[in-house]
Amino acid sequence: MGTTGVITKRVYDFSEGGREMRDLLGGKGANVAEMTRLGLPVPKGFTITTETCIEYLRGGHAFPLGLTREVTAHLEALEQAVGKRLGDAENPLLVSVRSGAKFSMPGMMDTVLNLGLNDISVEGLAARTGNPRFAYDSYRRFIQMFGDVVAEVPKEHFERALNQMKHRRRVEQDVDLTAADLTSLVEIFKDIYREHRGEAFPQDPRAQLDAAIRAVFESWDNRRARDYRRLNRIDHDLGTAVNVQQMVFGNTGPNSGTGVAFTRNNVTGEKGEPFGDFLINAQGEDVVAGIRTPRPLVELRDEIPEAYDQLIRTMDHLEQTYRNMQDVEFTIEDGALYMLQTRNGKRSAQAMVRIAVDLVAEGVLSEQEALTSLVEPDQVRQLLLPQLDLERASTPLAKGVNASPGAAVGAVVFTADEAERLGKAGEQVVLVRDETTPDDFHGMIEAQGILTARGGKTSHAAIVAVGMGKPAVCGVTAIRFGDDGTMRIGSETFREGDRITIDGTTGTVFAGDAPLVPPDPDNPFLQTILEWADRARTMAVRANADTPDDAARARAFGAEGIGLCRTEHMFQGDDRLPIVQSMIMAEDAADRVPYLDQLRVFQTSDFEGIFRAMAGLPVTIRLLDPPLHEFLPSLIELSERVAVAKATGRTDPEAVEQLAVVQQLHEVNPMLGTRGCRLGIEWPDVYRMQVAAIMTAACTIKRETGAAPIVEIMIPLVGFEEELRIMRAQVIEVAEIVLLEQRMAVEYAVGTMIELPRAALRAAQIAREADFFSFGTNDLTQTTLGFSRDDAENKFLTHYLQNNVITFNPFETIDQDGVGRLIAIAVEESRAEKPGIKLGICGEHGGDPASVMFFHGAGLDYVSCSPFRVQTARIAAARAALGA
Ligand code: PEP
Ligand code: MG
Repeated sequence: MGTTGVITKRVYDFSEGGREMRDLLGGKGANVAEMTRLGLPVPKGFTITTETCIEYLRGGHAFPLGLTREVTAHLEALEQAVGKRLGDAENPLLVSVRSGAKFSMPGMMDTVLNLGLNDISVEGLAARTGNPRFAYDSYRRFIQMFGDVVAEVPKEHFERALNQMKHRRRVEQDVDLTAADLTSLVEIFKDIYREHRGEAFPQDPRAQLDAAIRAVFESWDNRRARDYRRLNRIDHDLGTAVNVQQMVFGNTGPNSGTGVAFTRNNVTGEKGEPFGDFLINAQGEDVVAGIRTPRPLVELRDEIPEAYDQLIRTMDHLEQTYRNMQDVEFTIEDGALYMLQTRNGKRSAQAMVRIAVDLVAEGVLSEQEALTSLVEPDQVRQLLLPQLDLERASTPLAKGVNASPGAAVGAVVFTADEAERLGKAGEQVVLVRDETTPDDFHGMIEAQGILTARGGKTSHAAIVAVGMGKPAVCGVTAIRFGDDGTMRIGSETFREGDRITIDGTTGTVFAGDAPLVPPDPDNPFLQTILEWADRARTMAVRANADTPDDAARARAFGAEGIGLCRTEHMFQGDDRLPIVQSMIMAEDAADRVPYLDQLRVFQTSDFEGIFRAMAGLPVTIRLLDPPLHEFLPSLIELSERVAVAKATGRTDPEAVEQLAVVQQLHEVNPMLGTRGCRLGIEWPDVYRMQVAAIMTAACTIKRETGAAPIVEIMIPLVGFEEELRIMRAQVIEVAEIVLLEQRMAVEYAVGTMIELPRAALRAAQIAREADFFSFGTNDLTQTTLGFSRDDAENKFLTHYLQNNVITFNPFETIDQDGVGRLIAIAVEESRAEKPGIKLGICGEHGGDPASVMFFHGAGLDYVSCSPFRVQTARIAAARAALGA
């Protein structure tokens, strides 16, 4: 393609933009432009676009042609407008150079303040303001920041020199240093710079500006920015804008100051008193860096009353304009207020729901607008858990992955058995493992929280913890297990029984009992939001639940049925496993009968409990899925037992016998082996027993309550239509026998999971045998991508994510391009064959808001997720229906 002749505009004056231009100007640039448009007091400046950043990074890290000229033109216009010049000996202009991406990435990228100072202009500033102390304080700050951010001089060197100066002068605070102290500090800082860079601190202000712009562009790709984007699913190709803005000074004396403020309390959501922090005679970074302890905003009323009143009015104005709680930065220079930034404020889950409801009540927004713009579906889960009291917590001992939100306090235990023992005895424990496996499940149930040294957000520990609504911190690499039954984290050593706190919301770990805030399950604001959501959504939300307790909990969270009851859970209790094992070990079908009969009794009462808890709502029960050897001890364990027995001259006939069966059942790749309906076809009597139990339970409930449960029997892992034909015929045969025996009529549906690519591609043919489909996106993802979840997450997936081979974890968020296409094909072709077929999804993705959005678009009838994500899914489904 030839050139179009259109000249790209890369720089916008603040007066040329507005808040609708976030893509191009970044959040900060768009918002200062908006404030300029509103006539608010904003220091003047201009923004270099996000696209220019990408051009720079992709174009060999060189300024695109024409950029320098455009910056010069805007700089000259700025100098004209404010009547000052960069580097001027008499009346110098100083600017800030700040990053600002489309999505806020707090503290991840670079900023340089006080740019334009040099040995000459500092004198001009001192003379002009009559305040040499202020001028030299600004100069030393500039050298320090430029040195750190642009020239990569380690900042400790500057900090050490500053501390030495305070020590020599016997003062505590920076503000107590005199003009003379700061003048000599400037010389010391310049020496530090020269020593590290091998050249003098740059005196040409335009060279300073170009270097700072370059540094901000580069900071888009620094390690922490990349990590932050990956964690928050922000596209790496957006780029950051660069904002060049006239400096105003909060450090000119007692009538100046700087601060940050929220229009409403960001923790509680209350509108009450203005909420924020400020410092008199300081620059912004002092507040952020915690160098001096800031004061509560209300006290500003007594210090600089006119500026305070104007600030409060301005914040109201901004909140009305943005129709959202705002987080602002301001500076007061000699009594005059300047607004430096406004943005939608980050808030706790409590504040989020309250602010949304209040703003609708105040008539600022409609309920639909509040749902789409103010409510983060994932965040509501935090309301169900105790939270770390951020205001009172000390410094964490270590950081890991915030795998499942909420905080937990308890005694350290290293084994699932110990967790179970102490937990059942009523003690609070935190289960600490290298990583968890399904064998740890019993301990996880009893623990308050889970802490692991390995694994991420979709590790076994994380998935299970999220499913149980239990806090988990995973992948804490600082954990070291000792051979003597201890664990070290940093300088602390823990033995079993020592107290620990984990905060799964922030991914932090604390020694001892950290302060917590209790949960509020009946939060009235959340209830209001859920009512709005239920009015707006078109997809139903069900839950994955395997026990009556889970079913009841799911119902309390608003689940409209069970989308997946995994029956294998019912094979695992202490009272059942030996029977299951005997059943597997049985010689032949006849030998198996008594064991199956015993299991049938258990299963029948389990199903009765679930049907009772879900009365009036559909319950999808999936027949046994995992390979049978999962119910026997492992090959390694049995081999060891046999070897030990032999070596000590004993016999262990049980181990020998089990080993023979396990060897026979052993598969190289069980994930793709005898699972699901393959098992059902080869071992029909297990499925027959399950169907009989389901239908017997259904009859009991109907007899008991007068209403039959809504029964849906689901066949797992179907790939061939013939498999479902065989299974369906068998289910109907057994069900009819039971109904005949019981002399009752109960309706039941028979359907299948779609969790293999072949099943998706043959959906039309499979639909002929099915009353419903449920997409099993866990297996569908594994089999479509060829990733085994456990192997992927413990091995190459992290590397893939870090190196951008893929940008999201496909086990968390549905892979729309691959797995999603299969779903789309299956939806279209099954509905063409059987228009009324009911379609749902029951993989982990059913509780992930981005995936829920996709399922809505794909036209599914319902999503099913863990009980603790039901509220999230209700809100996500509403947002999808509202086109958020
Ligand atoms: C699935 O594969 O998505 C599913 C729900 O089944 P499971 O996770 O039990 O394999
Ligand atoms: Mg599956």
